[in-house]
Amino acid sequence: MKKTGKIELEKCPICGRMIFTLYGNQVDQNGERSDGCFCQCGWHKTCGGELKPDKIDFPNHISLNEAKRRFQAKQPLTPTYDDFIAMLRYWTEIQFFYLGIKYGVCLDRESVYIYVWGGDVVCEYPTIEEFAAKANINGMLLKDLWPQIKDVDWAE
Ligand SMILES: [Zn+2]
Repeated sequence: MKKTGKIELEKCPICGRMIFTLYGNQVDQNGERSDGCFCQCGWHKTCGGELKPDKIDFPNHISLNEAKRRFQAKQPLTPTYDDFIAMLRYWTEIQFFYLGIKYGVCLDRESVYIYVWGGDVVCEYPTIEEFAAKANINGMLLKDLWPQIKDVDWAE
């Protein structure tokens, strides 16, 4: 594929390390924009994230301004439970691991539910507000389990 854009070298907006970008979006040194193309600090610079710094922009899990705030406070950029609910509103499909098992979460027109990846529905609620308050795995609230939830990400 012919590339018309020019790969730029610029500073990560979060940590200041040098990163490659193409049209304002972070890329690798070959100009490819792969999902694995994150800065060492955990940020992926996006054009949309710069335009709307208070909104989540894929593939990041939190907004640019929130990432700046947390980096300054030496806090991780990994999503909190509230971030996860915000991600779900934005993307509607999220995945995570709990005790080594992969789960999916889906928000559709009728309900919000957790399911075992490739398996059964674990719990289901009519609204995202009710989901946020009551979502559980084996009777344990997801918000209480949150510290044990691993690898929260956009569903593949
Ligand atoms: Zn960085």
